[in-house]
Amino acid sequence: MKLHEAQLRHTFFETFKNQGDLHLSQVVPSGLQEPVLVSANAQFAQQLGIDADNLNSPEFLKLMAGHIEGEPSSTNPIALVYSGHQFGVWAGQLGDGRAITLGELEKDGALWDIQLKGAGSTPYSRLADGRAVLRSSIREYLCSEAMHNLGIATTRALALVDSQTQVYREEVESGATVCRVAQSHIRFGSFEHFHYRNQSKAVKALADYVIQRNFPQWVNQENKYYLMLENCVLKTAKMIAQWQSVGFNHGVMNTDNMSIIGDTIDYGPFGFLDAYDPEHICNHSDANGRYSFKNQPSVGLWNLNALATSLTSLMSNDDLIRALKQYEPKFIHQFRHIMASKIGLEEYQPDDEQLINQLLELLQINNVDYTIFFRTLGEFTQSNQAIRDQFIDREGFDAWAKKYSARLAQQSLTDQQRQQNMNAVNPKYVLRNYMAQASIAAAQKGDYSEVNLLLEVLQSPFEEHPQAEKYAGLPPDWADQLSVSCSS
Ligand code: AMP
Ligand code: MG
Repeated sequence: MKLHEAQLRHTFFETFKNQGDLHLSQVVPSGLQEPVLVSANAQFAQQLGIDADNLNSPEFLKLMAGHIEGEPSSTNPIALVYSGHQFGVWAGQLGDGRAITLGELEKDGALWDIQLKGAGSTPYSRLADGRAVLRSSIREYLCSEAMHNLGIATTRALALVDSQTQVYREEVESGATVCRVAQSHIRFGSFEHFHYRNQSKAVKALADYVIQRNFPQWVNQENKYYLMLENCVLKTAKMIAQWQSVGFNHGVMNTDNMSIIGDTIDYGPFGFLDAYDPEHICNHSDANGRYSFKNQPSVGLWNLNALATSLTSLMSNDDLIRALKQYEPKFIHQFRHIMASKIGLEEYQPDDEQLINQLLELLQINNVDYTIFFRTLGEFTQSNQAIRDQFIDREGFDAWAKKYSARLAQQSLTDQQRQQNMNAVNPKYVLRNYMAQASIAAAQKGDYSEVNLLLEVLQSPFEEHPQAEKYAGLPPDWADQLSVSCSS
C-alpha cells in the first residue's frame, strides 16, 4: 500500500462532524517549505502495511510535510479540542495546537490515527505558531521508537521531515514535522474539557467513541464506562512501572499529556537517567520537581483522579473509587516483577523487595549509571571486578553481592542462562540526552545519518551494535550541562 493513495477512514470526524466545533475543528495543514526526509521508519511502516518503496517517494514526503492537496483522497484533517491540568493547575482549553490528524489506517482490525505534528496552526494554537522545531521533532521521533522497542506502550512515529521553514524560538530554527501514529490520541484532558463545561452529553459521546473504536468488545456491556476507566488505571500503572524500570523521566505529566489507552504520549523535555538519582528533574521549567523521576508513580494516580473526576456523570462514586484503588497494587506488582527480572530472578519472592531496595539505595549513594549497571549485572559472579568497580563504597556492594549470590543460588539457572534472561530485559542502549543532542547537532548541519543510526540501534536496544559502541558507555562530561525545557 502507498500511504498517499490510501483510503484513510476518519471515525472521529464522522462521529462528531455534525456537532459543529464542539469536539474538533477542520483544518488545512500548512506544508513545510522545501521539505527533506530525515528518516522514515521502515520497521513500523511494514507493520502498518505501507510499502517500503513508498517511503522514498516524493508523494510520501509531500504528505509527511503537510502538503495534502487532495491526497490521500479521503483525508479530512482535523485538530482535536482538549483541556488539562498543567503542573497541578486547571489550565482550561489547550487542544491540538500543533497536531493535525489526517485520518486512520486500518491494519489487522486495529485503527491507527495518522497525525502530523508541526504542520501549522489550528484554532487551538492560542498565540503560538503550530510549528515544531527539528531538535524537538528528532527527540520525539527517536524516543517514541525507543520506548516501543523497550516494550513500553507509546505513540509511534512513522516519519520525520526537516525543512527551510523558519521557526522563531530563542533563535531561528528549522521547522519540522513528525508523523505520529497511535490507536488513540484521546487524552485525560479531552474528558476534562467537557466535564468542566458541564457538557455531560459530550463526555458520554467521547467515552462511547473510545469504547466503540478501541474496545468494541465492551460496547454492549452495562459497565462499559467502568471498564474503560479500569483499563486506563491498569495500563497507566503498568506504563509508569515500566518507565521507572528503565529510568525514563517524562518531564511534563500534565493531564493533557496522558492517554486514555495508557500510551506514553507527548515527548518534550523527557530524559533517561544516567546515574541513578530518584530526585532527578529532566524538565528545566519544572523548578519544584513536580514531575521528578521519583514523583511519577504518584503523579500517575493524581492524573487518574482528575480523569475519574471528569467521568462522574458516567458512573457512581463507588465505581470511580473501585477503579482508582487498583492503581497502587498494580503498580507495585508490576514494578516488583520487572525489577526482579532485571536482577535475574525467575520469580519475585517477598524478601526480594529488600534486596531490590538495598540495591537502588547503593546505586543512588554511589552515583552508579543505571543502564550500564543492570546490563553488566548479567555478568555477575562474586569475583567480577567490573561490576564492583562501579561503586565507590566497595564494601557496601560486597555486602549486597553476598546476599544476591545466596538468592541466585536458590535458582537452578546456569550463569549463562541467567545472563541471557537479563540481557533481554536490561537494555544496552537507551536514548540519553547527549545521544539525541549529537544527532541533532549533525542534523542541523544537514547530516541525518546519526538520527538514522540511533533509530536502528534503539529499535533493538537489547542487542549488540558494534557500530554504535560509543553510545553504550558512560555519557561524556558535557552531557551534564544539557538542559531541556518545554520550548519546542
Ligand atoms: P505541551 O505541554 O508541550 O504538551 O503543550 C501544551 C499545549 O500547547 C498543547 O496542546 C500543544 O498543542 C500546544 N502547543 C505547544 N507548542 C505549540 C506551538 N508551537 N504552536 C501551537 N500550539 C502549541
Ligand atoms: Mg501536550
